[in-house]
Amino acid sequence: MKFFIETKGLSDFVNITEKVKEQIENSNIENGAVLIFVLGTTAAITIMEDESGVFADLKDILEKIAPEKGDYKHHLTGIDNNGAAHIKSALLKPDILIPLEKGKLCLGTWQQIILIDFDEKPRTREVLIKVLKTE
Ligand code: ZN
Repeated sequence: MKFFIETKGLSDFVNITEKVKEQIENSNIENGAVLIFVLGTTAAITIMEDESGVFADLKDILEKIAPEKGDYKHHLTGIDNNGAAHIKSALLKPDILIPLEKGKLCLGTWQQIILIDFDEKPRTREVLIKVLKTE
């Protein structure tokens, strides 16, 4: 299963929880785990509260680690200038694994599945979903 999502780049936080739920409802798998994976080396998927202050805080922390206007060896390739995006993506990772019980994602009250696009420009992101069945 997969879906596509439009992002704005430059640390764009997108809540994909409902899109993931729509996909797994069609899987007919009751128990197991759901792997959610974004293709690309300048985006990430994490779990966090969907609240603008939390998004701004994470963006600020990551900006201290890998500033957008920093000097990156990656830029020497001349292909693009998204060195900061590659570092942020590698730190947060492109995937998340969530338990599935009785056909529903096991998420806490405030846990939302958030895709973050760090790239320097808007992108169309492909998100893969694999439902792994257990007994
Ligand atoms: Zn690049």
